[in-house]
Parts: sequence; structure tokens; C-alpha cells
Amino acid sequence: MALALAASILFAVANLFPILTLSLQGKHAEATLLGAVLELQKQGMGMMAGLVLFTTIVVPAMELSGLLYVLLPLRLGKLLPGQTAVFRLIHSLRPWGMIEVLMLGILVSLVKLAHMANVHPGWSLWLFGAFIFVMAATAASLDSEEIWTRLGRHYPSALQPNSAARYLTCHVCGLLSYELTNKAVQHCPRCGSHLHIRKPNSIGRCWSLLIAAFILYIPANVLPVMSTSSIVGAQVDTIMSGVVYLWVSGSWPLALLVFFASVMVPLLKLMALTLLLVTVQKRSRWRPLDRARLYRLTEMVGRWSMVDIFVVTMLVALVDVRPLAAVQAGPGAIAFGAVVVLTMVAAMSFDPRLIWDSLQDNVHTR
Ligand SMILES: [Zn+2]
Repeated sequence: MALALAASILFAVANLFPILTLSLQGKHAEATLLGAVLELQKQGMGMMAGLVLFTTIVVPAMELSGLLYVLLPLRLGKLLPGQTAVFRLIHSLRPWGMIEVLMLGILVSLVKLAHMANVHPGWSLWLFGAFIFVMAATAASLDSEEIWTRLGRHYPSALQPNSAARYLTCHVCGLLSYELTNKAVQHCPRCGSHLHIRKPNSIGRCWSLLIAAFILYIPANVLPVMSTSSIVGAQVDTIMSGVVYLWVSGSWPLALLVFFASVMVPLLKLMALTLLLVTVQKRSRWRPLDRARLYRLTEMVGRWSMVDIFVVTMLVALVDVRPLAAVQAGPGAIAFGAVVVLTMVAAMSFDPRLIWDSLQDNVHTR
């Protein structure tokens, strides 16, 4: 609770100050996180503004306030209505909080801008830096099992010994239940989330999200993600030309990092999910453990592709020193953001238990 309180204070204060300030020939510009979102909105990039707002402000704010709503009363020995639902919500929001990816994006934009103007880190950059560590410590010291126990739902019928019944694991709280054959829809007795032997329609849903992502991957890489106009001329950048620029300007470690996060990760993710879906549909018995590991990796690294979205956001907000220079977000950025979100949801809707089904013939699959 102490760490969650500290993280809340850091987060609130970090949102008040500029992250970066830029000065170019006597003109100054500064960007707060919310200011950057509003600038995107002003340029008609409402979807992208919404995505940045959701992943860097709304989700962390909801996660922290929800955590305090659960922890504070428990510390005082009280129970408040809706705490179970709130704690369940925190669980499903967690993959969408992306402050650490935002920090990488800020670092990349700092390097990109260093060649054309004087850029200074603002107060908020250090506060967000501290926030990441405090938030990690909060997550590490949180014992979900204890919270679920203390939230104290009674569930006498959770484990009825019945040799014929199948087990069901709760995706949210991890409680093991027996399948009740007399019920069409079964809920976890402890946290109330849906229980199912296999995620319903997993393969169909994953395929449709994946195909949509494949289609959008093309405009994401072909269309410009941003255009820079200055007194020297105008320049249009795609994802790849941004990487090339970093490489040529001598920041090759960062160029490799961005290349990996923005080009390789989405492509590998699309290919990995295709491989998983095809092998599961063919009921393949080929290296199930490696495929399970591949799935976990796919789920873990996907969010880091958002880094380019955050770079564009920061550049748009900062480089607004008209008439000297201005940066506009391009349509490629929207397509790219959609690819990241679609592949994340696709990975979430895939059920890794399907990988093991072909090895257990007695397990019924849907
Ligand atoms: Zn549960």
C-alpha cells in the first residue's frame, strides 16, 4: 500500500510538468504528456491520441486508484462493495499500461531531436523514471493470492470431489474448480470471472484478428508515420526510414533497438501466431514445450512495438516551433498502432492449452 501510494503521487506530479523542453533559435516549446495527446487530437489523429491517452494515462491511473481502493480498506480491516470487481479489472488492465515503453520512446525522440535543436529533459522525465521503479516494486510486493483470500468470498462448492469431473483454472485469480455439468456458464466462485475448459472460439477469433493485423501491416510500413516541415524543406518518414536515420546519425544501439521493436517484433509476432494456429488446427505433436514458450514470448514482447507511436507523439508535441519547424503525425502511425493492438488482442484470445490437447487424447476440445 505504501508503494502504491508513492507511485500515485509520483504519477500525479509527473503529469503536471513538461517531459522535454526544446529550444531552437530563441523559440521554445515544451511537452507534457497530456499536452502531447491534445496536440495529436488537434492534428486530427483522434484514434492515435486515444491510444496514447489510454495506455499512458488512463490505465496507470485506473490501476493505481483501483489498487488503493482494494488495499486501503483491507489495511483498515474493512470491506467495500465492488472490491472484487475492481481487483479483477486491475488484472485485465495490466498489459495495457505502457509507461516503460513511453520512456523508451522519449529516449529515442531525445536522440532524434538532439541533432536539430537544444533539448532538455524536464522534471517529469525523472518523475516518470522513478515511477517505473516504484510501480515495479508495487507489483512485486503484491500478493494476489492473499488479497483474494482477504476479499473473503465464501466458496464451499469450489472443489467438490468428483472423480469424473474436469478441472477448470481461473484465468484471473488462479483458483482451481471442478466443472459443473449442470451449468451452461460457470463463474469462478472466488473472483466471479468466467470459467471455461478452453477459451471459447479461440481459434476463430485469433485468426480474424491476425488477418486484420496482416492487412494493416502493409500500410503501417508503407505510409508515412510522420512528416517534418522546416525552413530547409519537408521530409516524410516511414518506420524504416526512422530507423535508417538513427543508424546514419551514429546512434546505432538505438537504431537496432527501434528496428527490433518496430519492425522485427510485429513481424515475428504475426508469424509466431500463424505457426501456433496452424499447428493447433493440424493437431500437431511437434515440440509442444517450445511452442508454449514461443506463445509466452509473443505475449510478453508485443507491447514494446508501441515505442514508435510514442516517438511520433513526443515529436509532434515538441517540434512545434513554427515557422522554423513542425512535425505532423502521418496515417502510417494509425495503421501501426492498430497492428500492435490487434496482435496483442490476438495473442490474448489464443488459448495455449490447445497446444497440449493433441498429446492427451482423452481431453475433449472445442
Ligand atoms: Zn477466479
